[in-house]
Amino acid sequence: MVRTRVAPSPTGDPHVGTAYMALFSYCFAKQHGGEFLLRIEDTDLARSTKASEQTILDSLKWLGLQWDEGPDVGGAKGAYRQSERLPIYKAHTQTLLDKGHAFHCFCTSERLDEMRKAQMAGGQTARYDGLCSQLSAEDVAAQKAAGTPFVVRMKVPASGVCTIQDRLRGAIEIDYAQIDMQVLQKADGFPTYHLAVVVDDHLMAITHIIRGEEWINSAPKHQLLYEYFGWPMPELIHMPLLRNPDKSKLSKRKNPTSIRFYKDMGYMPEAVLNYLGMLGWSLPSGEEKFSLDEMVAF
Ligand code: GLU
Repeated sequence: MVRTRVAPSPTGDPHVGTAYMALFSYCFAKQHGGEFLLRIEDTDLARSTKASEQTILDSLKWLGLQWDEGPDVGGAKGAYRQSERLPIYKAHTQTLLDKGHAFHCFCTSERLDEMRKAQMAGGQTARYDGLCSQLSAEDVAAQKAAGTPFVVRMKVPASGVCTIQDRLRGAIEIDYAQIDMQVLQKADGFPTYHLAVVVDDHLMAITHIIRGEEWINSAPKHQLLYEYFGWPMPELIHMPLLRNPDKSKLSKRKNPTSIRFYKDMGYMPEAVLNYLGMLGWSLPSGEEKFSLDEMVAF
């Protein structure tokens, strides 16, 4: 069973990029007789709002991209709002710690800043230097007992090449030396995107991840996490980004990026979907007007 998802963060007005990913995720799932999910990625407490979440739901509904499972309609693999899944992430972070694939990091932001500055001055990629991965179990227990704030980071091989398979782009090779020992659990106990996305995509039985190409550099971290957990890796499909005419990433400063803007301007949802569809796909006949059902069928 093909299962896809769109996983927006409820921070601000929903972006047309979210509609674009939702459209392709929806069509891919429906073409294969599968299911399409909506998951709200609201682990950034400071920036996430309920109003933004509601606008995401309203905007995607207006476009006619109805999800089979999601925070409002429920489903067997919920909750579909990450802030309601915190115990799940805690347990999975603990699993990684127990297996030795993650470590507690007590470094202060001052130390991290200095480390990064020195690395960049030396022409290196800024990445965590692994200091705390050397701490003994006694050191960790003592620091925790003393109440020192900490994050949990994943381990990353020191050398070698990570190969990612992308359905659109083929094999992508990235040196492990370029990959940071990503924070998985923040000092406030919340998961980062990287942990939560892997845990949720697995537990929600997502088979194909369709998202923007800005996430390609994160794929090695995610692939490592799948390996550490011993889970099969979903297929990855990184879509080209929507861009301004000068090829920069589509941004509010240069163009209207909110789905709501097009609704308020009186655009028909069919036209917005048709246009977004044409950015990533075309009919063999060259026909430029097509409906959502036609996009699903082809
Ligand atoms: N929450 C991420 C975003 O807002 C989701 C990225 C993904 O699809 O993995 O873009």
